[in-house]
Amino acid sequence: MLIFRQMFDTQSSTYTYLLADSESRVCVLIDPVFEQVHRDASFISELGLELLWTLDTHVHADHVTGAWLLKQRLGSRVALAAAGGAEGADRYLQHGDIVEFGARHLKVRATPGHTNGCLTYVLDDDTRAFTGDALLIRGCGRTDFQQGDARQLYHSIKEQIFSLPDNCQLWPAHDYRGATMTTVCEERRYNPRIGGELSESDFTGYLANLGLPHPKQIDIAVPANLRCGKPESGVAPAEPDWAPLSLTFGGIWEVAPQWLEEHADEVQIVDVREPDEVVGPLGHIAAAIRVPLAHLAEKAEEFSKEKPVVTVCRAGGRSAQATVILQRKGFEKVANLAGGMLRWNAGQHPTQGSFDYDAGL
Ligand code: FE
Repeated sequence: MLIFRQMFDTQSSTYTYLLADSESRVCVLIDPVFEQVHRDASFISELGLELLWTLDTHVHADHVTGAWLLKQRLGSRVALAAAGGAEGADRYLQHGDIVEFGARHLKVRATPGHTNGCLTYVLDDDTRAFTGDALLIRGCGRTDFQQGDARQLYHSIKEQIFSLPDNCQLWPAHDYRGATMTTVCEERRYNPRIGGELSESDFTGYLANLGLPHPKQIDIAVPANLRCGKPESGVAPAEPDWAPLSLTFGGIWEVAPQWLEEHADEVQIVDVREPDEVVGPLGHIAAAIRVPLAHLAEKAEEFSKEKPVVTVCRAGGRSAQATVILQRKGFEKVANLAGGMLRWNAGQHPTQGSFDYDAGL
């Protein structure tokens, strides 16, 4: 039997897929995300699975792949398209290749156009296909960088994806509106770029006029993904275990707002914003000690090095720097509140309005 899971990275809106053979307990991961390696690794071990392969659908521009880090942690092997030009893979895939996991397998179809190295992975019985960014739910990948080619993408979708059975489920690399999957039949009919009666010139005209902004992560993600996600230092980060932390590719340990709310009394929360921000509209976390970033190095002496420290700011940028300052001061259990007070408030975690500031500093 197939074990199948879809997982989501909220930062990049990326879907990661786990496919396992329930008999032999071996699995593959499609499009793992660097910052989610903890999540994926703990999930795989909880289910008692062995990760054989990480399979990227292409060299992503919006997130760094977890392929290299999973290889370090779990001993999995890295596979992706030969055409993508990435270094350090264990296997370079071509159209027509098969990737086996136990009694099951995925068939590799080349679907270039979004990038020159895009692959679609089709499950052995044609019931599911993992389309990467070639075909999205009522959309498709852009074609204006990474050797993208709208005409090529049109033919990839028509010939390699729409040729699958009507009821074949399509699972894309992203969705930005909350949809999770679609089918060949639906997209053939309703995809606004290529469905229905739309022609090749309709499709290329549509893509030529998308007017999308330059992707925020492209300058970090593409070079890293061309190394299969290996950091420039070549060193895997050390592993703290006092909280379910995730590690950003920038090397900052982060903790989720939900965890912090539930474990606020087990940590020292340090709010590094300026005094006027702490009493501003975003409020503050009740238990927070407030120390503006500029004073953190001198005030750090007053914190315990035994009790973990979680740093907080408006959006998570200054507090990321605060974790670096504290680590330099010898603090080992330090993490940043992911997304800062903006995400804390967006998740409706409790805040207080104003500090009696004079009492604190
Ligand atoms: Fe992409």
